[in-house]
Amino acid sequence: MKQIKQYLQPLLILIVFETVAVTLWLTKNNAFYLFNFSYIGLSISLGLFLYIKRYRHARRVVQLLVGLYMLVYLGLIQRENMQIEGFWYYLFTGVFEAATIHYAVAKIFGPLIFGRGWCGYACWTAMVLDFLPYPVPAQPRKKIGWIRYCTFALSLIFVAALFLAHVGDLERIMFLAFIIGNAVYYAVGVILAYAFKDNRAFCKYICPITVFLKPMSAFSLLRIKRNKDLCVDCGKCKRVCPMNVDVTDDSRSRENGTECILCMECVRNCPKKAL
Ligand code: SF4
Ligand code: SF4
Ligand code: SF4
Repeated sequence: MKQIKQYLQPLLILIVFETVAVTLWLTKNNAFYLFNFSYIGLSISLGLFLYIKRYRHARRVVQLLVGLYMLVYLGLIQRENMQIEGFWYYLFTGVFEAATIHYAVAKIFGPLIFGRGWCGYACWTAMVLDFLPYPVPAQPRKKIGWIRYCTFALSLIFVAALFLAHVGDLERIMFLAFIIGNAVYYAVGVILAYAFKDNRAFCKYICPITVFLKPMSAFSLLRIKRNKDLCVDCGKCKRVCPMNVDVTDDSRSRENGTECILCMECVRNCPKKAL
């Protein structure tokens, strides 16, 4: 019975995604929604199943399945700009496209439930950065997180300027912006990772999407908590955290609390199973 019970979670996730898939398919009369949400639901459920089976790379499997799908299928084949510029673009045009749904679900309202799960399990930028050699930061955190507000403002100014200047063939420009933007993100991400000896340096200092993700995830329902009775204050959880979260503090205002990507490295490494 216990064995069956543990598989309820992946099954539940699959049912939720299938419900969304079928509802959107029927109401919008568009089979894309059926395919899209079924695929994502299946990928996440598979990841959960592998995690239950204690497969060490379960998170990376989901990250590759979802990240590659977004980047290659939605971005390059379907030519949807899924970066933040695409979000502004579809918002200004008032079009209800995949990028708008994606931002609403994964990056604006979703984080109220699953925090920055997007960053741990689906982002195609981090999907590549996580292959670099510094999963655990080898240098103290820098105080340059303000850069994210500049990149956020620049992305908005760029798209607003295109509209104000009445530039033609915006679809093509947004597709080119998606390719160039991703190339720049990867290049900057890799350079920073080596410079700061930290795979996630780009996420911590540059990524404009964190302007949405951080405040929303502060209220996340899903968060890592510590069992004080089991904890022996060895500090290992803090040492292995890629995002420098002080997971020994249960308060909402814990150090770097809005950075948690739910990677479960702290849980896996806690010698007392206190997390
Ligand atoms: S912070 Fe930005 S780049 Fe990093 S994982 Fe999250 S969305 Fe991706
Ligand atoms: S690793 Fe576990 S036992 Fe050690 S400080 Fe963290 S929660 Fe406590
Ligand atoms: S190691 Fe723990 S606290 Fe740090 S990001 Fe991963 S899940 Fe969050």
